[in-house]
Amino acid sequence: MHATMMNYPLTTHHLIARAAKLFGEIEIVSQAPDRSLVRHTYTDLYARSRALAHGLLAAGLQKGDRVATLMWNHHAHMEVYFGVPLAGGVYHTLNLRLSPEDLAHIVADAGDRYLVIDDVLLPLLAKFGPTPPFERIFVVRWTDQALPPGLLDYEGLIGAGAPAQWQPPPAHENDPIAMCYTSGTTGRPKGVVYSHRATVLHCLASALPDSLDLSVQDTLCPVVPMFHVNAWGLPFTATMVGAKQVNPGPHLQPDALLDLWVKERVNVSAGVPTIWMGIKKLVEQDPGKWPLQPGLRMVVGGSAAPESMIAAMDELGMRVIHAWGMTETTPLGSVSRLQPLHAQLPAAEQLKIRAKQGVAPPYVDMRIVDDEGREVAWDGVKIGELQVRGPWVANGYHGGVDSQDKWTTDGWFRTGDVATIDAHGYMQLTDRTKDLVKSGGEWISSVALENALMGHPDIAEAAVIAVPHPKWSERPIAVVVAKDGKQIDEAALTAYLAARFEKWWLPDAYVVRDEIPRGATGKFLKRTLREQYAGWFEGWADGTPG
Ligand code: ADP
Repeated sequence: MHATMMNYPLTTHHLIARAAKLFGEIEIVSQAPDRSLVRHTYTDLYARSRALAHGLLAAGLQKGDRVATLMWNHHAHMEVYFGVPLAGGVYHTLNLRLSPEDLAHIVADAGDRYLVIDDVLLPLLAKFGPTPPFERIFVVRWTDQALPPGLLDYEGLIGAGAPAQWQPPPAHENDPIAMCYTSGTTGRPKGVVYSHRATVLHCLASALPDSLDLSVQDTLCPVVPMFHVNAWGLPFTATMVGAKQVNPGPHLQPDALLDLWVKERVNVSAGVPTIWMGIKKLVEQDPGKWPLQPGLRMVVGGSAAPESMIAAMDELGMRVIHAWGMTETTPLGSVSRLQPLHAQLPAAEQLKIRAKQGVAPPYVDMRIVDDEGREVAWDGVKIGELQVRGPWVANGYHGGVDSQDKWTTDGWFRTGDVATIDAHGYMQLTDRTKDLVKSGGEWISSVALENALMGHPDIAEAAVIAVPHPKWSERPIAVVVAKDGKQIDEAALTAYLAARFEKWWLPDAYVVRDEIPRGATGKFLKRTLREQYAGWFEGWADGTPG
């Protein structure tokens, strides 16, 4: 017997064509470098994406060819998201904060043929040396600076548009459409290649009420860059539901974001915790200045959202939605939302649940596994390596590099994160495998210590790292940044943590710095810190200064 259903392909082509048909007048607003606002609609996005596809094919693009981008969040970047796949190509978002070595490596590894770049980012081409490795470079012009010789105008590629009867080449749902490299926090960047199908299924799961809850009623401003895991897939998800989209362009400072949110009545945003810390500080300083949309939702991921931050945002009328994901998981892997079973809990207990990384959406399976490969019970206490599988989870890296020990023989992706899962399926990260502190044979969670420290009134930021120790093999030390005008009092911090953790968990030392080094996606570079403080206990025969 056969099912009698159509085998309709899950492609992103459908999303944009449908948005133009049903939500044609809904706006896509982009903030230009001079802070003026450029207003397009879904009708424009579709027409210009088709025009881009048509232009790229005329320029010689072949199926599967890579088109790199060096761009901020704006309409032209969205045109590439839809237009390059319409032409049968694969766009590859380059993280503009990467080092020249990493950029050169990933462009060569991806085999990028063309590049689309913002004119304000043209100085970055110098990172590629005297001859950038692209066959053609198309420039999105925001200023009236002249085009450097040999570079082409992006608007020339869009040209007069695609003829009305033009049809994109046939596409299969498993065709590749996009590439993104892991940010390299734990090693050399590796390429992940997304398909139409994975992207579409990821949209459907992301928009669900118990996921990010996006609909045509919303006005969404993704602060997460479009070069970081497709801005968490949000440009696709928002297009699927027809939400108004507001793109901040290069202006990511908290005051510029707040101005934009007020002006465009943004009610959902998304980004890493660092961004929200800046927003929180400004709103606290001058609560009446920015009349935000009531109940503004902020999707927070990329690093842990500490309880203290979620609580402070609640007080300011902003609702944090904590999510977890990775470049390899497109990225949505879990979201923490309360269920009816939590309704009777006291507020402090509810907060603890919202600060977990949460529950996997439909079609993502999760498990935690011990060192011997045995599954660990879901009791909310025992830790194990987090492994996932699902239709938008990668099953290898581009070119097969470094893939061997990242996937288990029974088909699960090893995330490199260490977590607990409770009886209701709420996952909580305790560390990355490489960041765990192993003291005297026992694990200490650096993340738990950091989250607690970041809730202390004197501390702006904290990173806890493992440092080699002659007696205990490793001990935690805390690298902290004081809040403006505050002093770090080590004894007070020790007493504060002692009320929350076992004595042997407490950091052996506090290093006060002006800032904590961050990687290209804004995460603490704990690897750098570990290198810098590796010799902390050298010459301490038994762990005490000799
Ligand atoms: P990289 O792995 O190179 O840092 P990714 O951007 O793919 O690049 O980061 C994925 C990692 O970020 C996860 O494996 C996890 O360690 C961390 N992460 C993502 N979301 C969260 C979160 N909500 N809480 C804590 N850590 C998170």
